[in-house]
Amino acid sequence: MTYVNEFLKKEKPADYYSKLLEELEEKNNKFHAFNVLNKRISDGFPISVKDNICVKGMETTASSKILKGYIPPFSATVIKRLEKDGFSVLGKTNMDEFGFGSFGINCEVPARNPFDETRVAGGSSSGAAVATSIMKYHAAVAESTGGSIAAPASFCGVVGFTPTYGLISRYGLIDYANSLDKIGFMARSSGDIRLLMSKSVGVDPADTTSVDVKLSDVKKEKIVVIDELYDKIDKNIKLSFDSSLSRLSAAGFKVQHVSIPEIDYSVPVYYIISMAEASTNLAKFTGFKYGLKVDDFSKEYNEFFTEAREAFGEEAKRKIILGTFIRGASVRSKYYEKALRIRRIIRDKLSKVLDDSFIISPTMPVLAPKAKEAESFSPIQNYSMDLLTIPPNLCGFPTISLPSDYIDGLPVGLQLTGGQFEDNGLISFGEQWEDSFKYKFKYNIGEL
Ligand code: GLN
Repeated sequence: MTYVNEFLKKEKPADYYSKLLEELEEKNNKFHAFNVLNKRISDGFPISVKDNICVKGMETTASSKILKGYIPPFSATVIKRLEKDGFSVLGKTNMDEFGFGSFGINCEVPARNPFDETRVAGGSSSGAAVATSIMKYHAAVAESTGGSIAAPASFCGVVGFTPTYGLISRYGLIDYANSLDKIGFMARSSGDIRLLMSKSVGVDPADTTSVDVKLSDVKKEKIVVIDELYDKIDKNIKLSFDSSLSRLSAAGFKVQHVSIPEIDYSVPVYYIISMAEASTNLAKFTGFKYGLKVDDFSKEYNEFFTEAREAFGEEAKRKIILGTFIRGASVRSKYYEKALRIRRIIRDKLSKVLDDSFIISPTMPVLAPKAKEAESFSPIQNYSMDLLTIPPNLCGFPTISLPSDYIDGLPVGLQLTGGQFEDNGLISFGEQWEDSFKYKFKYNIGEL
């Protein structure tokens, strides 16, 4: 089932888009899903774009004060491809600053979870998930470095798809960590994801890591649970996950448990690599070229740049300091190079498992926390919440997060990981999950 095709078949009243914008503006005051709304949208299937992906002529800040006022003179390749094919940009969605976070709270006005406004929407693609949750005819273009599509998708009860690294051009993305960043999608059905993927993948001369391959629609009967991850899931999520596994077994899937002790290094390895890369990527924001401008040229060199860089949020500053340290000549081999080697070991171990199976886990180990609670987490507590989404992201493997359950009225997500380029196999699994298990999205939140 695809909402895109349903929408295209429907006769729309002449004032459809102006009504949509009006209602959305009202809702946005409550949920803060969008940083910018495109008041000129007048045709096409509405897509929202995470605010770290450039859209020509539309303010793009990655939810950072340092990029306030930056209007890109070009659009990201993925946006150009979608616009050519009948999709129109409805606006730019809220996020953790530069993608740094798991709860959508590292920004000026955090997005709220539509299922419970006191709770976080998940991050870093918070606004993308909220927009997908509150709008029926809409899909979101988002980005994941270590789980930023899956986490908010699961907290907001929508489908989140993170493709194999390199499948979608990153040209026009404001990089967080280049060896990890993937552009992907959120939608209300796996069918919509299939459609969006078919219009977006393919090599792009502007991104040398982009690839052109034939995607395999592989079917696998075996699904594997990794013991070390399973052990760290909250009790209520575990119960719900176990019942999803039973449903799959009853449908003929073979569920197997394996132990991969090295998986426990995924989170520290990911944060070492991502911080090192982030610290170099943030070096270009100086108050000189993009966004915020400092124009008092009477200042000393250090004073000048410090003033602009004060605009970075706390997590960005942490990444600059730690990332720069990690890359330093005296400790480089101790942290960064070692992390790269362990990343390879984890990738090899997971690849072996993925030879003949998909890997399965809940998407997040907890239910969406209250915003107040999330604000009180230490950095390490924050990072450890990514334990289920980081392993596939670290290795560039595709994942799909599917809505699977509700606990106390809050959505729970199920995450499937496939091998490299098995993207379509995951989408087929999602379609099967939605069809044969008659999973119904809950539209109890007033859709547009
Ligand atoms: N929470 C993770 C981080 O802060 C993932 C973020 C992302 O995927 N952009 O790095």
